[in-house]
Amino acid sequence: MALVGASAAPPPLKLCASLLLSICLCLLSPCQGKPDYSEYRYPFIRKASTFPSSLSSSASGANNAYDYIIVGGGAAGCPLATTLSQNFSVLLLERGGVPFANANVSFLENFHLTLADTSKTSASQFFSSTDGVLNSRARVLGGGTSINAGFYTRGNPEFIRKVGWDQTLVNESYPWVEKQIVHRPDFVPWQRAFKDSLLDVGVSPFNGFTYDHLYGTKVGGTIFDRYGRRHTAAELLATANPQKLTVLIYATAQKIVFDTRGNRPKAVGVLFKDENGNGHQAFLKNNLQSEVILSSGAIGSPHLLLLSGIGPKADLEKLNITTVLDQEFVGKDMVDNPMNTIFVPTNGPINQSLIQTVGITKLGVYLESSSGFGQSNDSIRCHHGIMSAEIGQLSTVPPKQRTPEAIQAYTQNKRNLPHEVFRGGFILEKLASPLSKGELRLINTNVDENPSITFNYFSHPYDVERCVDGIRLATKVVQSKYFAELTRTDKQTTEKLLNISVKANVNLIPKHTNDTKSLEQFCKDTVITIWHYHGGCHIGKVVDHEHKVLGIDRLRVIDGSTFSESPGTNPQATVMMMGRYMGAKILRNRLGLAATV
Ligand SMILES: Cc1cc2nc3c(=O)[nH]c(=O)nc-3n(C[C@H](O)[C@H](O)[C@H](O)COP(=O)(O)OP(=O)(O)OC[C@H]3O[C@@H](n4cnc5c(N)ncnc54)[C@H](O)[C@@H]3O)c2cc1C
Repeated sequence: MALVGASAAPPPLKLCASLLLSICLCLLSPCQGKPDYSEYRYPFIRKASTFPSSLSSSASGANNAYDYIIVGGGAAGCPLATTLSQNFSVLLLERGGVPFANANVSFLENFHLTLADTSKTSASQFFSSTDGVLNSRARVLGGGTSINAGFYTRGNPEFIRKVGWDQTLVNESYPWVEKQIVHRPDFVPWQRAFKDSLLDVGVSPFNGFTYDHLYGTKVGGTIFDRYGRRHTAAELLATANPQKLTVLIYATAQKIVFDTRGNRPKAVGVLFKDENGNGHQAFLKNNLQSEVILSSGAIGSPHLLLLSGIGPKADLEKLNITTVLDQEFVGKDMVDNPMNTIFVPTNGPINQSLIQTVGITKLGVYLESSSGFGQSNDSIRCHHGIMSAEIGQLSTVPPKQRTPEAIQAYTQNKRNLPHEVFRGGFILEKLASPLSKGELRLINTNVDENPSITFNYFSHPYDVERCVDGIRLATKVVQSKYFAELTRTDKQTTEKLLNISVKANVNLIPKHTNDTKSLEQFCKDTVITIWHYHGGCHIGKVVDHEHKVLGIDRLRVIDGSTFSESPGTNPQATVMMMGRYMGAKILRNRLGLAATV
């Protein structure tokens, strides 16, 4: 059998020592949680090193072969694995650990700490796009749902219609997720003020608490319960069939293995390495319907396709990757919805809250809000990304000098600052459906390292126009009488707010002196991410409407990389729904329409 990729098992990476070191660092560092490797919660979750070494191709006929191999146990991968395991054998490979006993992951109050933890064992992997925007990607079972801000809201009906999904199955799949892990938020004063201010400035009507995407102001769901405990997509594995599902953690897929003897390349298995750096291969059963399914996320899936030889031939050849399919669209049209924020200092301590309320405007922007993430003792020690105290309003590092080294030096000194400077909240403006697009390209063949990612934020003038409208609206929200009681001064002038906010939005983009005079410049210079990046494996370009990779047999991509826009105000509801939906569809196609799931 001609197995492309099969012979390329990498040498052991001696990860053991570095893993131990990271655990030691983790115990020493106040910014990191204490992973408990003994608690995997479900009996079918195991470390990757327990997988039998099967580097020979004959394994495809052996007991170790699966009906489905899913790469990536994230928002889409977990519900997909659960659903397929009802009737078929499933191997789920996840490069990270479990979220269950990790305090940084499990509690709302620690949201910023996971993002601040840039160690190799962190549940979030830091990356910076070539635009100079700091970003994170999940590296843990549950994927983004284990590190995100928790806001849960369904996709817009127009999005569902455009993708061509079966509305009845969509209507069954959202509640399947909601019943298991979604909660109604406990409303805090900051979010109440935000809701009242949105209505005050005309983002109406008030639609109350709803999962639906409706113009006006609403309160959405959250995956944090009333004790602030996070419920992730990993909990959707609770209803899996334990006889048919195996979940391997610390299993990093390196390549998809193909049989290239026929007319079309056919996926036959996956090459992965375990937590000790040792290589393994998992194989599909020898029938037409078995499939490798990539659910590795918007960065992970195009990255893995490229590393497996599916991508632009010229690019692959530069890195000596054997081309399995010359595919110009892999990694193209990557989009990250730009976020700009207004920092609002408060006149006293303020409860921590992540997103609970959203303003869905007709301007093509969504307004959301968070509060209180600057004031804990940990805040004084850690780097928080957008909630960053080190770049807060009294930061001593001038914007133009914010190199990573300068930020590092500042972080070390900030415990000397008075706690009051970390008090406040953010009004977040997310641009819906940006027209600016970028791409993902390989830099090397190491799957652990981030590829080069460019989003080209605000390269399209219409995106700038909408951002400006959104910022105008956001400043009105802050100036509304409903915020006056909470904020430090009675009347915040627009210029004063923008001045604070230029400093409070950290990125590596050079700043301009007219940042507070020109809203266009403000948008471009203070752009950060809301982590809703998507694309790279678009439907019609890389996969078909059933998410099958064009030109390849037995390979699908089911995750946010297939989206041409971020659904709803926040995408996780629709990504999890899609995992369930696609699993149910696949079962129905294989077992007949009557199959109940
Ligand atoms: C900080 C942050 C805040 C966010 N806030 C919100 C919010 O409040 N509300 C909301 O709706 N959305 C939010 N999101 C977005 C949402 O979480 C993502 O859109 C969603 O998780 C994407 O799902 P996915 O399945 O495509 O990818 P992911 O959930 O990222 O899953 C991909 C999985 O694949 C694994 N993987 C990748 N490569 C490999 C490999 N080679 N081998 C094995 N495993 C691999 C990863 O470790 C990961 O677990 C946020 C995201 C982040 C990062």
